Amino acid sequence: MKCPYCGYDESKVIDSRPTDEGERIRRRRECLKCGKRFTTYEVIETVPIIVIKKDKSRESFDRNKLLNGLLRACEKRPVSIDTLERLVDEIEGSLQNSLDREVPSSLIGKYAMEKLKNIDEVAYVRFASVYREFKDIATFKEELDRMLKARRAP
Ligand SMILES: [Zn+2]
Repeated sequence: MKCPYCGYDESKVIDSRPTDEGERIRRRRECLKCGKRFTTYEVIETVPIIVIKKDKSRESFDRNKLLNGLLRACEKRPVSIDTLERLVDEIEGSLQNSLDREVPSSLIGKYAMEKLKNIDEVAYVRFASVYREFKDIATFKEELDRMLKARRAP
């Protein structure tokens, strides 16, 4: 952000707030060279997150899809939609904060499983069975044993 007075390109932000429409951020800046103050309006950039699927094809991250998967796992379970929406928000937030614009779908599944584990165990197992694609009943049992063991541990 170049200073309009001297052209120097480093300034510090003194104040930062969203505009009324919320689509832009108004920033008061102070030039580090000449000390003059100026205002900038910056567009909030939302970079789409690209999901790499198992077959290596790409699609943009769809939070509804994730939410639907979670809803299915939580069917007839005492988990509110608010809780799940929050969970999706958290996952989307971590993806937005990561420097990688492309993330494997398995990573999203992993995040979701980790969070679901603390919310509802039945939903967790259902979700895990879809995401991990347990090949047979033995692998499935292994996962259950692992979970039970973790629970028994102090
Ligand atoms: Zn300046």
